[in-house]
Amino acid sequence: MAELICHAKLTLPHHGDYMGDITDRLASFQAQRMPAAPGVTRLRYAFGWAEIVAEGAQVRLRGGAPDPNGLARLKDLMATAFMLYAKADAPRILWQGDAAGDRRLDSFRLMRVLSASSLTPHMRRIRLGGEGLDRFAAFGNMHVRLLLPSPAIPAPVWPVAGPDGLADWPDPERKPVARVYTIRRMDAAAGWVDIDMLLHDRDGPGSSWARTAQAGDAIGMIGPLGRPLNADARHFIMGADEAGLPALARLLETLPPRTGGTAFVEITSAVERQPIDNRTGIHVEWLLRQPGAAPGQTLADRIMAEGWPDRPDSFGWFAAESAAAQQVRQFWRSDLGLGRDRTLAAAYWKQGRAGLMAG
Ligand SMILES: Cc1cc2nc3c(=O)[nH]c(=O)nc-3n(C[C@H](O)[C@H](O)[C@H](O)COP(=O)(O)OP(=O)(O)OC[C@H]3O[C@@H](n4cnc5c(N)ncnc54)[C@H](O)[C@@H]3O)c2cc1C
Repeated sequence: MAELICHAKLTLPHHGDYMGDITDRLASFQAQRMPAAPGVTRLRYAFGWAEIVAEGAQVRLRGGAPDPNGLARLKDLMATAFMLYAKADAPRILWQGDAAGDRRLDSFRLMRVLSASSLTPHMRRIRLGGEGLDRFAAFGNMHVRLLLPSPAIPAPVWPVAGPDGLADWPDPERKPVARVYTIRRMDAAAGWVDIDMLLHDRDGPGSSWARTAQAGDAIGMIGPLGRPLNADARHFIMGADEAGLPALARLLETLPPRTGGTAFVEITSAVERQPIDNRTGIHVEWLLRQPGAAPGQTLADRIMAEGWPDRPDSFGWFAAESAAAQQVRQFWRSDLGLGRDRTLAAAYWKQGRAGLMAG
């Protein structure tokens, strides 16, 4: 099959202020930077290539991939990066070339609940079935945006692709609520993904949907989302609260067996401890949240007390409440001077705020 090509032209007078952030973000998805002239960025991915050429106020984007999935992924990565960082220039991306005008959103799947069960008193495992799930295993990311029906919008409208390749809503009045979750396990060939959803005390749309989900319920899924980890890391210091636990558990089950280090998990009660089929040499330590402590504080304190392993292949990974993640990020990045290639401290939720990172 001939290579598929997409291209777009943007007018971005201030691109000099943010282009570095855009190319850094694009490169962080396991891209190889190829040699290029000044003002040109060339990135090679496992699924295709991207080129960005800046000339005066004009920026030209091009991407090429061997198949439609790869092409859609490139459009999504580039459009998302410009939407995030080029806000000052209000970018309007109109993709031309192959699959231009295609309204099918490649990153979207309509899923149905196959089963729901309780792992612990507050963790529901929901198995979702759907078709064409290969892309959710293909790009080294493990998160998705679930599109949830709610009492206000029980029959939502599902997204299509806009001219920029991102989700567009034919009927904004019936747009579903979105929340970000982790694919805990999946089998693309068998057509299912498992999502472990926390039933937390404040009950938002995600938590309350999980509480009552039953076989046959429809739900939308967009993805995959998130950044792949540094593939060279072999020694980890990790921390997760209950929302970060599905991602941590997936890493412990899928990282190479010779990976070592320590993982701390903060739980609110001993009954929330769950079995993990840990295939690595990473030692797991469960921490009970201290009475009266803010969520994630016990975890952040423990991680910071641990210090940093003096090894070139070490990686810090943290997923918990926003304030705790911020403390750990500051400790790793500012106090210890470690870069993005060595650390990832992510806010998975924020106390008192609904829908963090839901887009
Ligand atoms: C990359 C990523 C991956 C994630 N993976 C998972 C996952 O696999 N499983 C999972 O359960 N969560 C996961 N989360 C966290 C989840 O997206 C949030 O907890 C989300 O806010 C839940 O939505 P909701 O509708 O239940 O609550 P919202 O409507 O978002 O919030 C309602 C209220 O509940 C509070 N709240 C939200 N989350 C929590 C919580 N975890 N604990 C206590 N109070 C909370 C909010 O502060 C707010 O006051 C992930 C988040 C990210 C960014």
